Amino acid sequence: MKNPLKVTKEMLFDQVRTYISQPESLAMIEKAYSYAENAHAAQKRKSGEPYFVHLLNVAYILSTLQAGPQTITAGLLHDTMEDCGIQKEELEREFDADVATLVEAVTKIGRLEFKDEKEYQAANHRKIFIAMAKDVRVIIIKLVDRLHNMRTLDYTSREQQIRVASETLQVYCPIAHRLGFGDMKNEMEDLCFYYLEPDRYHEVAKMVETKKAEREAMINRMIEELTELLKKHNFEFRIFGRSKHLYSIYKKMTEKNKRFDEIYDLYAIRVVTRSELNCYEILGYIHAQYRPMPGRLKDYIAMPKVNMYQSLHTTIFDNDGNIFEVQIRTEEMDKVAEQGIAAHWSYKEGIKYSSEKEQKEIENKLSWYHDMISMMDESELEHPNEFMNLIQKDIFEANIYVMSPKGRVIELPNGATPLDFAYRIHTEVGHNTIGAIVNGALVPLNTPLNTGDIVQIKTSKQATGPSEDWLKIVKTATARSKIRAYLTKQENERKQEYIEKGEKMLRDELKKRNLDPEEYLEKSRLDGILNAFQVSNTNELYYAIAVKSVSLPAVAEKLTNIKKSTNIDNLTLTQIFQSRKPRTATSKTGIQVSGLDNIKITIAGCCMPVYGDDIVGYITKGQGVKVHRADCPNIAGEFKRIIPVYWEESDEGKQYECWLKLEAIDRSYLISDIVTILAQYKAGLTGINSEVLPDKVNVTIDIKVKVSNAEQLKLVIANLRKINSIESVERIVK
Ligand code: MN
Repeated sequence: MKNPLKVTKEMLFDQVRTYISQPESLAMIEKAYSYAENAHAAQKRKSGEPYFVHLLNVAYILSTLQAGPQTITAGLLHDTMEDCGIQKEELEREFDADVATLVEAVTKIGRLEFKDEKEYQAANHRKIFIAMAKDVRVIIIKLVDRLHNMRTLDYTSREQQIRVASETLQVYCPIAHRLGFGDMKNEMEDLCFYYLEPDRYHEVAKMVETKKAEREAMINRMIEELTELLKKHNFEFRIFGRSKHLYSIYKKMTEKNKRFDEIYDLYAIRVVTRSELNCYEILGYIHAQYRPMPGRLKDYIAMPKVNMYQSLHTTIFDNDGNIFEVQIRTEEMDKVAEQGIAAHWSYKEGIKYSSEKEQKEIENKLSWYHDMISMMDESELEHPNEFMNLIQKDIFEANIYVMSPKGRVIELPNGATPLDFAYRIHTEVGHNTIGAIVNGALVPLNTPLNTGDIVQIKTSKQATGPSEDWLKIVKTATARSKIRAYLTKQENERKQEYIEKGEKMLRDELKKRNLDPEEYLEKSRLDGILNAFQVSNTNELYYAIAVKSVSLPAVAEKLTNIKKSTNIDNLTLTQIFQSRKPRTATSKTGIQVSGLDNIKITIAGCCMPVYGDDIVGYITKGQGVKVHRADCPNIAGEFKRIIPVYWEESDEGKQYECWLKLEAIDRSYLISDIVTILAQYKAGLTGINSEVLPDKVNVTIDIKVKVSNAEQLKLVIANLRKINSIESVERIVK
């Protein structure tokens, strides 16, 4: 369809030389160039051009992705084994083992293309694809190969066009998407759309074309307004409009059943700026000027998508009621959005190259890895291997496809059960599951599912809910973490009941002794006896009474004997520890640990203490000391593992992050008022999640702020509370 760019040898080498200068690397690429040109000399493409043009194009696209010399060499040679019968050994001799292995792996994947086209085989196909490409460079060469084949599909038969395009749409586009190659995925999808549904393609293209001039004028006006606004506040930024690709418009129309004129994010305005903080500030200023559409603010910076995509998205109205989607991100995020892992893997000379190391780095940078980590609790982190396996299963080895009765296809790992299916549909469906019907027959919840199964979940509001046993049934990490979260919540509720029961028991006991509970249950009095019963707060004392781990008469006894004075029992742990301050180990956290050298100190992610908070250290299994706030509920009662820690005397310049939860009545400019207060008190904003509650009136906004110390944080909180319509501001303990 399109007339592809004519790539020349000069273009390839000019591009390569922008980032590769080592003579031996350039010589290897030169050699591969002549070698491939020679090997394919007798072959022509369907277009009549020499076959070598294809290889030149593949190498060129790879060089625009800043691929390393081995990858470009393998790109030039990728068809020599298949089409010219050249052996791996020869490539190894002429080039190197790395290049030969890459070419062999690409060739093996190529052979799969001749399988037949049923959907379940496409599923299988994808699995084999991923399994064979243990080295991510193989996938990238293969994707680039396919991209160029799609660009030149015009010259093949109609039958071939349909075969290649449907395979591309089913196998290659999802992989490109998963790896974050946004541009490549979009281009391939549009090409597939063009070949598979030519009529619909032209229809959508025509609709876009008709409205184009009008829409573009509107966008340009908004871009001008925003430019003026941001310049006034001295931001460094680029701003431009970007249109949605045709296939995504078509999908939105068919899947969400929308008319063309109901799709308002046809064009997005993108602002690219310097820092993450700038992104949030810009969002604040934009919301102060234009009314945002409720529920459309998405913070993919704090919570990146699975393929590493990061950006802020919002939808705003101008004064005439026109709707615009605005994306705000940094240069780095923009590069990742368009090139995915390629943005990270870019070849850098001088460092000793290792494909294992590169693979590792890429794995580390894929955000699904981090997402999953944050979903797991600490105990699971003690078995990182088991855990990586789980993720691999969830993400990369998904290889059964089952269906809901309505025909929705769900992808699950091998061995997944109806419970995994239920949690994939919805968390509530999972929690309320009481039975499963597979292909019309009632089956136990632990029955492994197979591709093609039609699964129906029976739910009930009276369901007893998840139990420990369910953890053994499910195979997906997501279902597991949802069940675990449910069980923890129940445990806490149970605990609360015991606390209330314990308090009542103590009251009754005091009454029995003709004592006034109000007087004896006063906080200072209760605090005075906590240490005697080895608990750290009143709730724990009540809990201990209820579960009978302390004797009720003994508590009543102690409570009535104690004098209200500052004896040792009355001091908090921190006060005791702060009375002596030995000089010992220090760390970049600005915290000292008494009596221990070279110990790893990290700040607890749950209560996130900031400089000046009362803190204690918690000795973890194998992860050094975690520093918690002294009143963090997660460490309550853990006396044996608590050790004293201190903030260092001078702590200039260090910054600490913590989460705040804001509850408010939703209104215009709320976010910008929050951003303004933070700026006024010099607190950084490093994350924001907001949720409009089902009543559509109230919102909760979680913000992650960066401050120097507890005093500053206090000021920030006090002033956030003064903001009109904000009802509460609290620090979050996770
Ligand atoms: Mn090829």
